[in-house]
Amino acid sequence: MTIRSFDLLQPRSLPEAVELLRKHGDDARAIGGGTTLVILMKQRALHYPYLIDLQTIPGLSGIAQENDGVRIGALTSHRMVELSPLIRQSFPALAEAFSHIGNVRVRQTASIGGNLAHADYRLDPPPPLLVLGAEVTAFGAKGERNIALKDFFRGIYETALVPGEILTAVKIPQMAANAKAVYLRYSTMSANDWPCVNVAAYGRMENRRCQELRVALGGVAPTPLLIAGLEFAKDQELADTAVIEKILAAVDEQIAPSSDLRGSDWYKRKMARLFTQKALAQLNG
Ligand SMILES: Cc1cc2nc3c(=O)[nH]c(=O)nc-3n(C[C@H](O)[C@H](O)[C@H](O)COP(=O)(O)OP(=O)(O)OC[C@H]3O[C@@H](n4cnc5c(N)ncnc54)[C@H](O)[C@@H]3O)c2cc1C
Repeated sequence: MTIRSFDLLQPRSLPEAVELLRKHGDDARAIGGGTTLVILMKQRALHYPYLIDLQTIPGLSGIAQENDGVRIGALTSHRMVELSPLIRQSFPALAEAFSHIGNVRVRQTASIGGNLAHADYRLDPPPPLLVLGAEVTAFGAKGERNIALKDFFRGIYETALVPGEILTAVKIPQMAANAKAVYLRYSTMSANDWPCVNVAAYGRMENRRCQELRVALGGVAPTPLLIAGLEFAKDQELADTAVIEKILAAVDEQIAPSSDLRGSDWYKRKMARLFTQKALAQLNG
């Protein structure tokens, strides 16, 4: 199918982009790498007469070490995150997550901002970003604001961004020296297909006892999900079967998988349990 014609507007600054989004309202949409938006427009599932190209705005791409963590510009490609020496060293689980997305062509073009703003329920990056305590920065008519990623996803394809707001960066706090994060994904169709279930876990350990535990899953609820209420794991050993069962019970209670091409809701519950167990074992290893 061919794409219906549209105007590509190329702003030179964030205020100009925000003004274009305001001016054209529902007729306009921001475009990052275009890997999702262009496919949807080609399929004629969506049509926008105006696309606001974010690639022409300077300063939105790049990965930088800051005092308290790492900042990734919203236009940074998946491939840049996957291959970045800084990300590989500071957050290997995140580099791992990005390395599994689609194929090299997609990763070379797609942006981290586009990935999060798309808010699909089975994306690779959100679970590791959630357990790492990431926040996003958005710029809109009222200026700049930070949103904790755990508050960002509101529903399938729905985020906390208000109309006209542009995601400009993702910030990840430095990990504590005694902390570790792991990422696991399970796909049922082919190795580079979207995940059926994905799990990230973060643990801060002292003398093999857990000081802080975070677990997040994708593919098993309308949004990527940071599991709440894991404080009971503090001072516990993650090898303790009773503790593991309590964590798995919290996961089972909070997820709400739907059946789709990649598995039934029943199957996804089983896989969520299995892969959470594997992630906890890796944290403990
Ligand atoms: C073949 C294929 C396989 C894929 N497999 C996977 C996979 O296994 N795992 C996975 O996680 N993902 C997968 N994806 C999805 C891919 O990660 C997304 O297409 C990509 O992240 C979207 O980024 P983009 O920059 O191209 O966004 P775009 O297509 O440009 O935009 C997507 C949406 O986000 C909005 N948007 C973009 N940038 C911003 C911004 N800065 N601020 C506000 N809104 C913005 C757009 O308006 C649009 O609604 C796959 C995609 C393809 C095509």
